[in-house]
Amino acid sequence: MPGGVSSNFRHGISPTPLVFERAEGPWLFDVDGNRLIDYYLGMGPMILGHTPEPVLRAVAGQLQRGILYGGQSALEAEAAELFCSLVPCAEKLRFASSGSEAVQAALALARAATGRRIVVDFEGHYHGWIPRGEVELLTWNDLAALEARLSDGDVAAVIMEPAMCNAGAIAPAPGYLEGARAACSRHGTVLIFDEVITGFRVAPGGAQQLFGVTPDLATFGKCVANGFPVAVVAGRADLLDLFVTGAAMHGGTYNANPVSMAATLATLRALADGSVLRALEAPGRRLMQGLDAALRAAGVPAVVTGFPQIFHVGLGLTEPARDHRDLARVDRVRYVRFCGELLARRVRALERGAWFLSAAHDDAVIDETIEAAAAAAMAIRG
Ligand code: PMP
Repeated sequence: MPGGVSSNFRHGISPTPLVFERAEGPWLFDVDGNRLIDYYLGMGPMILGHTPEPVLRAVAGQLQRGILYGGQSALEAEAAELFCSLVPCAEKLRFASSGSEAVQAALALARAATGRRIVVDFEGHYHGWIPRGEVELLTWNDLAALEARLSDGDVAAVIMEPAMCNAGAIAPAPGYLEGARAACSRHGTVLIFDEVITGFRVAPGGAQQLFGVTPDLATFGKCVANGFPVAVVAGRADLLDLFVTGAAMHGGTYNANPVSMAATLATLRALADGSVLRALEAPGRRLMQGLDAALRAAGVPAVVTGFPQIFHVGLGLTEPARDHRDLARVDRVRYVRFCGELLARRVRALERGAWFLSAAHDDAVIDETIEAAAAAAMAIRG
């Protein structure tokens, strides 16, 4: 395995790629016997924690009934119906097995629908390892720039994280999503929200529900199935139906496999009424404030921004970042040191600044984290 890992994002992390043997609730256990409070959460999916009973039960039950049918299941239909009842843009959907594939499927639909090739995407936004050809980068949260680019009428799709969570955790500027929506409609461009991170994390209906702006298509992954490899491309029925006419291609041996569908149904049922995500708000805010206070007490400048369920610690910033360029001022070297000090105190946080929270992170775990952060902040001062 080049680099000893199976994903580029796991390479180059100090002190060495860690090796794990078990996970439970908010914790990961490495092969050396260390119990770490986990804020990676599998890069975001484990919204219910590592071992939620309803998901484990559903999956264990399904395993007795088979692993892969190469055909449809009632579970799949039920999961699709529940998904569509929760997500505003979802008239229809297709299940996929990773966010990268769901994004590629969405782009194929947009290109088939418009007969155009060019896709507009934004600095700092990540959409999986999609081919970069015919993709143009703009600055996010700049409506005038987007309107100007779309006015030529040659753009198939605009794809964005509706809140920029891969770099920073930046909310859209007031009016930006609405303006992007209107500009796309005006110029016949398909608007795609990539909700792989925000979906079922910031609200049961994703950022599109939270901000009240409905895209033509949206992609989901991560929290959909609490760690099982499930992704979704969802949206307007006339667009999704292009898969059936053959205008756009989509396939996948493992798509909607019944084990993953059992996990999906159990996860979406747990998240559907919004109470789980709402219950994350108070502990999430407390953790954000606790980290902010810890860094402040050590005299380390930092800005903590985002949502209680996914936030970003911008070390070295003095004001909240509004776009990718502001984030260039983050002190990455020092933040990696901070993560190393946290890890030494048995807290695992993503080196790129994002913190994911789960329903398994109770008050005691948050307190322990804040205590570790206070000591880690002191260790990196000066
Ligand atoms: N889109 C976004 C917004 C993501 O955050 C990610 C993964 N971090 C992807 C797409 C790609 O998803 P996957 O890793 O499942 O291919």
